[in-house]
Amino acid sequence: MFMRIDRLQAELPQPKRPDPNAAAALQELLGGKYGEMSTLGNYMFQSFNFRDKSKLRPFYSLVSSIFAEELGHVELVSTGVAMLNNGPGDPTPDVDVSKAPFHDMQDIRLAGSFLSNGGGAMPMNSNAASWNMDMVTTTGNIIIDLLHNFHLECGARLHKLRVYETLTDPTGREVCGYLLVRGSVHAHAYALALKKLTGVAIEQMLPTPNINLDRIPECQKYLQEGSHRRLYTFSQDYPESAGVWSNDEVALPGDPPGNLEVVDGAPEGGKIPELDGNYGAFAPNYKPEEIFEIASKLYKKSR
Ligand code: MN
Ligand code: MN
Repeated sequence: MFMRIDRLQAELPQPKRPDPNAAAALQELLGGKYGEMSTLGNYMFQSFNFRDKSKLRPFYSLVSSIFAEELGHVELVSTGVAMLNNGPGDPTPDVDVSKAPFHDMQDIRLAGSFLSNGGGAMPMNSNAASWNMDMVTTTGNIIIDLLHNFHLECGARLHKLRVYETLTDPTGREVCGYLLVRGSVHAHAYALALKKLTGVAIEQMLPTPNINLDRIPECQKYLQEGSHRRLYTFSQDYPESAGVWSNDEVALPGDPPGNLEVVDGAPEGGKIPELDGNYGAFAPNYKPEEIFEIASKLYKKSR
């Protein structure tokens, strides 16, 4: 079962202005073939379907821990998409609907993300193609699944790098910077798992694509704090991940040196930013003043 923490895995800076086309680019990292929905779906079902969980405990714990992290990545990218669609927030309660106030939204790349979703994220890629189960691989064979996961993390790195190269706004770049560091951990972890099982030093292929994180300014603070050496379990229940991601193993060449460590818990992360309503687009609407007051009374009652 799962527990929910009301925080994001990283602190995201506010966008300077609404940028729906940047949000569309970021959608690739959510619902694209190599996006967070795919890493989540793969590791989630592999974890549920895992055979011989007790006998293969370190590997089961590893997949289960990374699965939990991916759910938070879905949350992080979704929040980035919504922030970019929303901009810094200028809620105008009295919009004249007869004057085509959202005329510009005809020309954004993913018009449906405004027209259908009110600026919220959806499990789709940058061209509005739906994410679906064809992007999940769970074969029951531990080597095939781990190889698939290694490929998936390297593919995700490629896509993150390309999306990053399209972005100028700080919000989307921060999402990419954080996820590039964490994706490197996952690629490294799956490589080490394969090495422990087969003896093949597959981690020597990293980084793939072959560009070190020191070239990306948004990665630096995460590297300085040692995020690239930490595997989070998001639980007290999966310490056996340390059998794979252990102190015998060290950071990849090209990243700041040090021993790898398993953390029983979650990163400190950052606050979930408050997104103002978009009253001209009827979100959240009904009777705004009235429902805010109702919510405020219920909040006081709950404390
Ligand atoms: Mn991820
Ligand atoms: Mn990952």
